[in-house]
Amino acid sequence: MAIERTLSIIKPDAVAKNVIGQITSRFEAAGLKVVAAKLVQLSRAEAEQFYGVHRARPFFKDLVDFMLSGPVMIQVLEGEDAIAKNRDLMGATDPKKAAPGTIRADFADSIDANAVHGSDAPETAAAEVAFFFAGLNVYSR
Ligand code: UDP
Repeated sequence: MAIERTLSIIKPDAVAKNVIGQITSRFEAAGLKVVAAKLVQLSRAEAEQFYGVHRARPFFKDLVDFMLSGPVMIQVLEGEDAIAKNRDLMGATDPKKAAPGTIRADFADSIDANAVHGSDAPETAAAEVAFFFAGLNVYSR
């Protein structure tokens, strides 16, 4: 399996619950390393661009408003099979359908306030890492 990088966002609901550390511990326990990180308040333009693929969906405005409701913890995770591994750790988009023991099952309240984002494929991972960390330090560890 290849060493990959993937973008993780700990969303405003989970930051507000003060579980950045608990979620990051799960990444680390699964063998993923944090190779870049920043706690930021997104701008509306950034949130709209990041979720641009969902622009036509009925939940788009609520999703953007939610992502602006507080700071988010954005991390680049590196490790073997990092993209799929992170998706497994996250669980299904709707926490009611997420497998027991996943991040969303344990920390998310609803399909819109669902604790974490994770890139879903190599192409989106590369684009999302570049979107938030272009020109910033991403470390080899
Ligand atoms: N979302 C929502 N309502 C829906 C579907 C999605 O609010 O009915 C939000 C939710 O925050 C989700 C994000 O849109 O995480 C992106 O949706 P996607 O289908 O890409 O899910 P993910 O990859 O985050 O599991």
